[in-house]
Amino acid sequence: MSKILIVAEHLNGQLNPSTAKCVAAASKMSPQAIDVLVLAADTAGLAAQAAKIAGVSRVLTAQRPENANALAAVLAPQVAKAAAGYTHVFGPSTTFGKDLMPRVAALLGAPQVSDLMDVVDATTFRRPVYAGNAIITVSVPAGCTVVATVRTASFPAAGEGGNAAIEALDLDVALPAHTRFVELKSGKSDRPDLQTAAKVVSGGRALGSADNFRLIYSLADRIGAAVGASRAAVDAGYVPNDLQVGQTGKIIAPELYIAVGISGAIQHLTGIKDAGTIVAINKDPEAPIFEIADFGLVGDLFQILPELEAALG
Ligand SMILES: Cc1cc2nc3c(=O)[nH]c(=O)nc-3n(C[C@H](O)[C@H](O)[C@H](O)COP(=O)(O)OP(=O)(O)OC[C@H]3O[C@@H](n4cnc5c(N)ncnc54)[C@H](O)[C@@H]3O)c2cc1C
Repeated sequence: MSKILIVAEHLNGQLNPSTAKCVAAASKMSPQAIDVLVLAADTAGLAAQAAKIAGVSRVLTAQRPENANALAAVLAPQVAKAAAGYTHVFGPSTTFGKDLMPRVAALLGAPQVSDLMDVVDATTFRRPVYAGNAIITVSVPAGCTVVATVRTASFPAAGEGGNAAIEALDLDVALPAHTRFVELKSGKSDRPDLQTAAKVVSGGRALGSADNFRLIYSLADRIGAAVGASRAAVDAGYVPNDLQVGQTGKIIAPELYIAVGISGAIQHLTGIKDAGTIVAINKDPEAPIFEIADFGLVGDLFQILPELEAALG
């Protein structure tokens, strides 16, 4: 019977929704236990949030000053120690999890299943390959600890209503001193978070400049959406790279995705595979984005966007 340990992702005292999505993925295996591990300098508030996630058996806390910042080199040995007795160790396939989990797998001498998007059974999983153009079924040899990163866009977050017990762990682990925290820089925005927003408006190379990108921000603000971008728009310097959607950007699953002046390259489409309704605005009727769009507007974005805003009143 499976026992699953999930490493909680958090920032500024808030649990990231990716943790509840990992719980949803773990629940598909109907395991004996799903425990959430919170590593932080102050775990109390985070543990209380994790305990409320439906399906969580126990919340385990590892509180020490070194855990104030999410340094993979510092967290990995603690996760590896806490993993004793578990059949599976899951983390989200976010920047946090992609940084941390390979180190955990290496310390455990275990294989890693990356970008897990579906669970077949306790050792068999599905994951995307070739930028999401093919889905492969992989199986981990029996007897190995399964370390996995969970593709958060593929799972709805587990609901609330849980009341898990909270237990403090005393992980007596020597931590490396070769990696130290210097600074965390992140863009400040009042807009919804791109990774978790219900609506996203994204712009591509066709916007032509950072200045023109205000058309995208303006539409997004009118409908309460987050802003995204293609890699071409990021590379051209129109927007910062934390807005990039796609294979090497963010994998998202909004209910509504509006792609403006984006051709629909496979590397972009892999980031929106799980989006609900896709609307594309492109002047080229042959653009690949129209193959996956639910609604398409063929025309010049510089004409369509102002008209759309005018129509919104
Ligand atoms: C390893 C690798 C990883 C990558 N990862 C990513 C990734 O994560 N995310 C990503 O997005 N890309 C990624 N790419 C790049 C990807 O292949 C494309 O180059 C990129 O997505 C193109 O961006 P775009 O659609 O904005 O630009 P283009 O392909 O240049 O498309 C611009 C579109 O705008 C339309 N257009 C032009 N003018 C107008 C107008 N006035 N009105 C309306 N439409 C107009 C054009 O018809 C065209 O379809 C990756 C590539 C590689 C090799």
